[in-house]
Amino acid sequence: MSVKNNTEIKNARLIEIFSAIQGEGLNVGTRQIFIRFALCDLRCHFCDSAHTWSVPTSCRVEQTPGLRDFEIHPNPVSLPVLLKWVQRQNAPLIHDSISLTGGEPLLHASFLVEFLPQVRSATGLPIYLETGGHRPEQLDMILPYLDSVGMDLKLPSVSGESRWQEHANFLQLCKKAQLEVFVKIIVSQNTDPTELKHSGELVAEVSPDIPIFLQPVTPLESSVALSTQMPMLAPEPAQVLKWQSLMKKFVNQVRVVPQTHKMLNQL
Ligand code: SF4
Repeated sequence: MSVKNNTEIKNARLIEIFSAIQGEGLNVGTRQIFIRFALCDLRCHFCDSAHTWSVPTSCRVEQTPGLRDFEIHPNPVSLPVLLKWVQRQNAPLIHDSISLTGGEPLLHASFLVEFLPQVRSATGLPIYLETGGHRPEQLDMILPYLDSVGMDLKLPSVSGESRWQEHANFLQLCKKAQLEVFVKIIVSQNTDPTELKHSGELVAEVSPDIPIFLQPVTPLESSVALSTQMPMLAPEPAQVLKWQSLMKKFVNQVRVVPQTHKMLNQL
């Protein structure tokens, strides 16, 4: 193993660590310690986290859970230091779980293989992974250390990304490991219903018991999608109702939930 690879495994490249209410998916409303990793290899048109696409020279670390009293530290961060910061956040009776988010946390799978067993044992908190759902090989590396997974299913008509086979393989792995998993699909006025149908079939083929969350896109500040310069508008109510009933033909639970943390003015 090269020195560079060894360094990458032993160190995390981070954006930030903070405590907040989870605003999306199955864990909505619960309190989590968020570890936001740098780097993403997708370029979703609706991305509101483009600042995560590369590794910044420094990351910000909340000192007191929820107070946003960030201190700044240089990247990368060693495993013992990250462990210490997460333990500091883990005050009694506050958090329900730890959220691995990004960017794409699975780009750090080699680091997570070392880190996750230690952070689980140090905090006793369940580990939740938020992911683009397109890296099944990396998921396989850390499956034993996860408790639940929120997988984005990227619709080409909304995200500009097309990862159907990867998504199918990813969900199969979650099912085999008997992990709690749900699928989140961002929908906009541009959503192609044939892609929603395909998504429903894909999920149902793995298991009709996997819940699907349709998440109306949160319009970007500029209301223009990154890279396409196309308007990125939330769907009309009538569209959402129609799509929810379409998806119910395939899976048992289809919920429509917007990004609630933005309503609470959480990060
Ligand atoms: S996967 Fe997430 S972070 Fe990456 S481009 Fe898409 S929305 Fe942005």
